[in-house]
Amino acid sequence: MKYALISDIHGNLEALQTALDYLGKNNINEIYCLGDIVGYGPNPNECVNMVRNKCKNVLMGNHDFAAVGKANVDYFNDYAKLATYWTMKNLSEKNKNYLESLPFTHQNDEAIMVHASPTNPSHWYYILSLYDAQIEMQSFNQPLCFIGHSHVPVIFSAQKIIRNDYFGYDTNKQYIINVGSVGQPRDGNSKLSMVVVDNDACKIQYVRLSYNIEETYRKIIRAGLPKFLAERLLKGY
Ligand code: ZN
Repeated sequence: MKYALISDIHGNLEALQTALDYLGKNNINEIYCLGDIVGYGPNPNECVNMVRNKCKNVLMGNHDFAAVGKANVDYFNDYAKLATYWTMKNLSEKNKNYLESLPFTHQNDEAIMVHASPTNPSHWYYILSLYDAQIEMQSFNQPLCFIGHSHVPVIFSAQKIIRNDYFGYDTNKQYIINVGSVGQPRDGNSKLSMVVVDNDACKIQYVRLSYNIEETYRKIIRAGLPKFLAERLLKGY
């Protein structure tokens, strides 16, 4: 069976729509969202509605947590803080209630899914090095752990860092897979990032797609959000 993982949409409706259109056309209907539906982008309500409709499981991200007033935003940079206040003001009550209800973890026999880190899913650690990944692997038993949070697509095995668009995994080993970001990629590639898993073939595929960035750019400016948040989409940083 094939299923998809999306993460870090950040109110970017054009990117989300493009991702979901692709999955629909390819008959991939089981979609998991690893959180950060809102924050930074101009369409938080539309993105929450769409994710809620299309995704089988949806997890809490730190920006979702912040948008419902639950996270300490002191550690956010100025742009993230401003965007959080904007999002708090613009989110509907219904969508705030929905975001507030999101769990931090989803698990099955094959995978554990979290926004940030499996050792402590509500503490928003970043897994950036092989050393971080090796420590994190001690906290779950499944072969696969899917994460988002850093917006940088990368796979960690117990021995190395893998940056291939296609990857065959071994179910007797463990991997931490950062699926990248739909709405604000930061790996120098402005194309949206998501992952499709074929668990019969034990294959992971990164899907990178162009979307209408210019439209999102215009909306960010029109919404009065910082211009930097529009500029970064063009370069993917
Ligand atoms: Zn994020």
